[in-house]
Amino acid sequence: MIANSYERGRSFLGRLPLEGDLAGSIEGFCRENGITLGMFTALGAVKSARLAYYDQESREYRGFAVDEPMEMVSCMGNISLRDGQPIVHAHLALSDGEGRTISGHLMSGTPIFACEIFIQELLGEPLVRRQDEETGLPLWRRG
Ligand code: ZN
Repeated sequence: MIANSYERGRSFLGRLPLEGDLAGSIEGFCRENGITLGMFTALGAVKSARLAYYDQESREYRGFAVDEPMEMVSCMGNISLRDGQPIVHAHLALSDGEGRTISGHLMSGTPIFACEIFIQELLGEPLVRRQDEETGLPLWRRG
């Protein structure tokens, strides 16, 4: 297992902007506040969504669009560095007007309607994402 021990840094509770891109808004907040590693949970609603499923055979993300307003039942993710920039990895569960759920890996192109978020900064040796040969995914290595 590739893991480090961390101290808790700052904790943030707040609201993301209407129509902001969900992943992009979190990454922007991290850049502005110097957060290079952390975890977050969020809930609220999105105007539409772009999600993906990672096909382990073809080693490609298969993206799909959700073209209607949805409740954001749960969004959980982490923040780490890739190419020196904080990037978000998040999975999102959405529900429609009849309570049906669709979920997947969050992609950019998911505009926020309302979003309340808790971000926990972590302090210590950074985990950095680099391309992993075995999975084809950008996985963590020690910084
Ligand atoms: Zn994912």
